[in-house]
Amino acid sequence: MRKVIPITEFISTEVKNNLALYLLLSFVVISLTSFQTVPTEKAKKFKVVIDPGHGGKDPGTHGAYTKEKDIVLKVSLKVGGYLEELLDDVEVIYTRKTDTYSHPKVRATMANDAEADLYVSIHANAVGNAAIRGTETYVMGTKNEGRNFEVAKRENSVILLEDNYKEAYQDFDPTSPEVNIMFSIMQEAYQENSIILATNIESQFSKRAGRKSLGVKQSSLWVLWNTAMPSVLVELGYLTNAKEEKELNDPKVQDYLASAIFRGIRDYKKYLESTK
Ligand SMILES: [Zn+2]
Repeated sequence: MRKVIPITEFISTEVKNNLALYLLLSFVVISLTSFQTVPTEKAKKFKVVIDPGHGGKDPGTHGAYTKEKDIVLKVSLKVGGYLEELLDDVEVIYTRKTDTYSHPKVRATMANDAEADLYVSIHANAVGNAAIRGTETYVMGTKNEGRNFEVAKRENSVILLEDNYKEAYQDFDPTSPEVNIMFSIMQEAYQENSIILATNIESQFSKRAGRKSLGVKQSSLWVLWNTAMPSVLVELGYLTNAKEEKELNDPKVQDYLASAIFRGIRDYKKYLESTK
């Protein structure tokens, strides 16, 4: 009977060491490759931050019986739902999904940390004149005249709810019309894309959702100023207009509004892909 010699005996120590080294290197290479694959796949996702305005201790504005924070949450969840359901390569990040308060700074940081592709803040409007109704979509800008300034003051005023706002928002005085006159280079780069998205949304509001569109506007809104990506702030309508307040409470109208915002985002994404 021939003695079976274990294969290891044929291999010199040097070869064994080389073999061990080879196995170790293979393991490292495989590990690195798999580590690289995961983030690449993740990076392909188009990240949309949906920011339902206000919440918790900050109710926003109100109509005869409606709080802004409640209406905007309902529509925001519907927008996110459409994005998740109808577009495979989109990741939705909500700044809130319930009636909770979060600092505007936390919301902006959340979007910046996630390196989001888009920031969509959803609000409802109010004004002294009860006849005024319609949708508006804001991009960051320096034109703070008339009603745009009123919107900026109101939407920024949440910052004043915070005890330490002077410390936390040093360079941003939400009551000053001179605020943010200077544009950073970064903001200017996002401006063009923000306007494209805002135009898409307003066009969808009037053409598909049958809303009265008051158009794309510019205002110095804190949250838009502090997000490092194209960002818009949508005003769904005026709670101070009796007809519009009633409509905004109608789940069907909420669906139309959400669907219009979804289509605006979808078309914006298609536009970006076509320019690649
Ligand atoms: Zn608001």
